[in-house]
Amino acid sequence: MTDSAQPSPLTEAPSSVPSPAMIDAPSDESALTVEDPRKDDPSVPVALADDIPPPDNGRFVHFPADCPPLLSVIIDAEEEFAWDSFTRSATSVTNIRAQTQAQALFEPYGVVPTYCIDYPVASQEDGIAPLRDLMADGRCEIGAQLHSWVTPPFDETITRTSTFAGNLPKALELAKIRQLTEIIGETFGIAPKVYRAGRYGLGPNTADALVQFGYEIDCSVLPWVNLRPRQGPDFSRFSTTPFWLDQRGGLLELPVTAGMVGLLESVGIGATVYRRTSTPAANRWRVPAVLSRLGFLNRIPLTPEGTTLSEAKKVTRWLAERGHRTFCVNYHSSSLAVGHTPYVRNSRDLTAFLDWLSGYLEFFFGEIGGQAATPGEIRLRALGSGRAA
Ligand SMILES: [Zn+2]
Repeated sequence: MTDSAQPSPLTEAPSSVPSPAMIDAPSDESALTVEDPRKDDPSVPVALADDIPPPDNGRFVHFPADCPPLLSVIIDAEEEFAWDSFTRSATSVTNIRAQTQAQALFEPYGVVPTYCIDYPVASQEDGIAPLRDLMADGRCEIGAQLHSWVTPPFDETITRTSTFAGNLPKALELAKIRQLTEIIGETFGIAPKVYRAGRYGLGPNTADALVQFGYEIDCSVLPWVNLRPRQGPDFSRFSTTPFWLDQRGGLLELPVTAGMVGLLESVGIGATVYRRTSTPAANRWRVPAVLSRLGFLNRIPLTPEGTTLSEAKKVTRWLAERGHRTFCVNYHSSSLAVGHTPYVRNSRDLTAFLDWLSGYLEFFFGEIGGQAATPGEIRLRALGSGRAA
């Protein structure tokens, strides 16, 4: 039944190109506006960071064949803001109390979602109270998400480049991660273990900073997508397979689950063709959309935001058949309150969104025999499979 949920115009867009909202950014970057009340003050200069090298083969984590598919739910828990503008003043987090709607769907299956909360959520009662109650009952875990533009210290001017925290000078990125980690410690009484860079803004210094503050898992890699044209990192040589980000047995990278599906991938050239055809010029000629229509190649992220339920099932089966064992459903907390994201504009959209979640959970735990696992539990299994190997 949920398969037939009416797709919104956005879900009909070919998902072979990264969904704009997945990176909190408009498709037309020229429309991006930034506002900084202190723009006349001297500020720390921010330039595009160096490339992050993709992992060598020895650092990938492969799970034994008898390991069931494992499902984590990771939610970007954040303020309501217009995704085409970045300002220090948009910090309202009233959407957090709406998370109970999805919690009710998770709990029958034993899914304990991870809310990667950002500074506005961690520092205001509207964000803290609903999540503290869930956490106290063991119904959720709390991770961290860095939205650089609303996290002190505010030493940088807001620009497109600075919204990717990995571009910040090392000391400033570290200082923001410190403040975020400390405020979560103060208000939730825990040391968060899971980190996500807002806008997938992982940088060359991020792993060092995370290790310093005791993080064990990063989930900032957006497989196959080159964000360079938007001043972000180039992930075009990263896949959806987990890997050790710093060293074996250290910080586990759990990339956003996104499958490359289609004929070209089944003959082993999907990633290469995707890289060559996801350029602005090829997009102008709608090459990725045509490849997707023909069933040749389609990049499908595992999210109710812009991916239909049947696509999500398809990519899950595709990856599971090829030995992939870790699946992360991702979405933004603000999608659960009507009117804040492009995906949930009215109550009908919200119903379809919740139907997607319940349909996917039913499929994952029924049809394909999966198990729920938090990112921390996945890391423990990864450590175990490393020892066995
Ligand atoms: Zn975000």
